[in-house]
Amino acid sequence: MKRVIAIANQKGGVGKTTTAVNLAASLAATKRRTLLIDLDPQGNATMGCGVDKAQIARGSCEALLGESDVASALVTVEPAGLSLLAANQDLTAAEVRLLTMIAGREIKLRAALKPVRDNFDVILIDCPPALNMLTVNALVAADSVLIPMQCEYYALEGLSALLATIEQIRTAANPPLELEGILRTMFDPRNNLANEVSAQLIQHFGDKVFRTIIPRNIRLAEAPSFGRPVLFHDKESRGALAYLALAGEMIRREDEEREAAARGAEGPASTPASSESGPTHSVNGGAADAATGSGTEAADAAGVVTTTADGTPGFAMIGDHDAKEA
Ligand code: ADP
Ligand code: MG
Repeated sequence: MKRVIAIANQKGGVGKTTTAVNLAASLAATKRRTLLIDLDPQGNATMGCGVDKAQIARGSCEALLGESDVASALVTVEPAGLSLLAANQDLTAAEVRLLTMIAGREIKLRAALKPVRDNFDVILIDCPPALNMLTVNALVAADSVLIPMQCEYYALEGLSALLATIEQIRTAANPPLELEGILRTMFDPRNNLANEVSAQLIQHFGDKVFRTIIPRNIRLAEAPSFGRPVLFHDKESRGALAYLALAGEMIRREDEEREAAARGAEGPASTPASSESGPTHSVNGGAADAATGSGTEAADAAGVVTTTADGTPGFAMIGDHDAKEA
């Protein structure tokens, strides 16, 4: 898991905000110091955290424009225990202002975050549904990109445009930018097309597709109307368990990468046996394990996911993605 993760997909309604809010809450539940940045003028992540977007004195707009430092614009979100940099429609004006700047307009967020980066274990950025200057700022500030996707026919089409943008940002401004993973959202296993698209994703992106699948779940849809992450609306729901499982999968991957790096430093060694026990790529993946596991307490999140992530194919598929699609 990288420190700064942009949650991006230029399509609207694919689950970016739902993922940003609920993954942030799940990571905070594992005691990670978590910052959620709302970078969408719709302010849905802000409202989903129970913060009134009409009452924001300082937020991501002011931070982007350098009118406020990030630290003093943060709001603490309880009971989730995470920090929020809030947003509302003022962000649209901020984007217009950015566009008129001659130099450095892509690096505003990165520069603003620099002083607070080390105060957090993870920073999630909820991007707007467009490949605009706000999203570019997020991608330049980020270490990695998490792409939520609904497994439907046009999903893959949009994905190539997004991957091309990521590649451009890597070349121009942020070479270390990685693909954190592709997350299948609102998944309905009874839908044949969803299963086909899911299989295609795995074929193209291998282990970059998260094993955890987010099911379509009514609790996830209704939690924002209570201004709470689903974990504090119905913690036993499939939606809550799925996002806990996703947090667990990301933490586990990070541990494995660290171990692999340590082994690499010591010289070649055999791969240790993994604790894998659940079916891979099944609907609900880790969430199913979570439901039957030792408990559903938030603090157990890191322990309940029994999938492993091994190799990381990275960006090898970007160039040939369209060709394979055709
Ligand atoms: P985006 O931020 O990409 O536009 P949202 O996260 O706002 O997408 O999701 C779009 C709509 O779908 C919202 O009404 C949200 O509550 C709903 N939704 C998102 N994920 C799920 C899910 N897994 N199950 C049911 N509804 C969902
Ligand atoms: Mg959104």
